[in-house]
Amino acid sequence: MGADCLFCRIVAGEIPATIVKETATTLAFRDIGPKAPVHVLVIPKEHYADVATLGQGDPGLAGEVLATAAAVAEDEGLTGDGFRVMFNTGPYGGQEVFHVHAHLLGGAPLGPMLARDLV
Ligand code: 5GP
Ligand code: ZN
Repeated sequence: MGADCLFCRIVAGEIPATIVKETATTLAFRDIGPKAPVHVLVIPKEHYADVATLGQGDPGLAGEVLATAAAVAEDEGLTGDGFRVMFNTGPYGGQEVFHVHAHLLGGAPLGPMLARDLV
């Protein structure tokens, strides 16, 4: 991966992004099409396609992604009112970019977990 992956190219600095936090292993940047007042994507710098391959392949790195998400939530003032962290995964999960990313959403009441009940 790298040249073909949008988020690897953001890590490499080849595509601009509004970066809000960077650690040795993770990067957090604002979503280009925000769905909430705060909408930040948190990724491992190393390429994993989705949260399943990351979680099983490197659980420690998965934890670092969550730690960065928590730190950004604090920086953005979200911890008091709460927020949501989501990993869309695969076609049914609505994943569009196949470099794992946590969506950190907050800054307003986010409503129900899903737009409608499916059962
Ligand atoms: P997914 O549907 O894969 O869970 O989420 C992909 C997210 O990446 C979307 O929310 C979309 O707005 C965001 N996105 C797509 N292209 C770019 C880009 O070039 N820069 C940034 N910052 N976000 C992007
Ligand atoms: Zn990638």
